[in-house]
Amino acid sequence: MMELNHTHNPAARSWVDSAQAPGADFPIQNLPFGIFKEKEAPALDWRGCVAIGNEVCDLRALAASGVLQGAALQAAQAASHGSLNALMALGPAAWRALRHALFEVLLSTAPAATQAALKPCLLAQTSVDMGLPARIGDYTDFYTSIYHATNVGKLFRPDNPLMPNYTWVPIGYHGRASSVVVSGQSFRRPSGQTLPPGATEPVFGPCKRLDWEVELGVFMGTGNALGEPVALDDAEQHVFGVCLLNDWSARDIQAWEYQPLGPFLSKNFATTISPWVVMLEALAPYRAALERPDGKTDDVAYLRSAANSATGALDIQLSIGLTSPAMREAGLPVHNVCHTSYRHAYWTLAQMVAHHTVNGCNLQPGDLLGTGTLSGPTLDQAGALLELTQGGKVPVALSGGETRTFLADGDEVTMRGWCERTGAARIGFGTCVATVLPAMSG
Ligand code: CA
Repeated sequence: MMELNHTHNPAARSWVDSAQAPGADFPIQNLPFGIFKEKEAPALDWRGCVAIGNEVCDLRALAASGVLQGAALQAAQAASHGSLNALMALGPAAWRALRHALFEVLLSTAPAATQAALKPCLLAQTSVDMGLPARIGDYTDFYTSIYHATNVGKLFRPDNPLMPNYTWVPIGYHGRASSVVVSGQSFRRPSGQTLPPGATEPVFGPCKRLDWEVELGVFMGTGNALGEPVALDDAEQHVFGVCLLNDWSARDIQAWEYQPLGPFLSKNFATTISPWVVMLEALAPYRAALERPDGKTDDVAYLRSAANSATGALDIQLSIGLTSPAMREAGLPVHNVCHTSYRHAYWTLAQMVAHHTVNGCNLQPGDLLGTGTLSGPTLDQAGALLELTQGGKVPVALSGGETRTFLADGDEVTMRGWCERTGAARIGFGTCVATVLPAMSG
């Protein structure tokens, strides 16, 4: 498990002034990776970058600047293309070398010549478009919050809310990679089959119960060979980093289709992720003990280790809220309705990787794992409208006077993530935003 080092020093400052702004998501202790292009540049000129304050550092320009050597230079060159997959495949020593080299050259004490060489590599975030961080080969969504599983189970199966396998198996399903999109992209309300209350036959039409799910996305770095499981205590060596993930869900379509094989068209019309991938190393100050409400510690052996119990959880705080068209017209800010944390999850990130591979299934660089909806123990920590509104029965009041049970056309949903605690630098994930467009007519 990862230990603290000089890149976590909360007193460290960058010569990029905006990195020190109060509440900034991207101080020098963070340095998340993404894929960008200049707004004015040709459409296909995508390449890797790192966020620092309000700027991006272009890794292709940095690789050509002469300030990097060795493994860090090799890593920056691998990130000079239209996806981070090649960098992800290089492994944790390369990721660490590049992150540490970036820390050195962006530090306030970096030599003047280094700063001068770096300045042409920096671009304002407002001048660039962000793309998907990787070509995602496969996407798997887990179900790691026992609070979410219980709340949703009560609504779908009042007599049998939590299935007996839940506390033994990190439940997941294979999702759809092609419809994972980056923050800022709008999507259409899906249409599909639903069974109206009391009806005996389904109807077809636009989803009436469109929902969000507050999740984290985990980008795999180095993969594993087919047939070779990843051991629990090695699992994090295979993880490149973490992003925000919103798993849009059509609850009425889901209720009709989910048995016996689980979600299908109710989930695969869109999944929005944040453009920034925060490295596991940057999250080291926010590790926590795995704490479960039932106190269970007797996991099956491949899911159990002292390190995983002691430091396997991560206190990543998450919020979600929305603005309606009327609220935006009135200049009202995002109305947040949920504040939760990944530390409430029943299964850790390492357990997800160990479980996914225990049968020999091979993960590959750029594969994406969703944590599942990260609801906490109380209602204001519920990560989906389905839970917040108790199945659509209790509307949420928005600032400006409107109410919602589920999403309306034109709603713009904003998810945020950040880590903060006394004695450590606050780091953030930026935002994960998307707007609901009307369903296709006809
Ligand atoms: Ca989900």
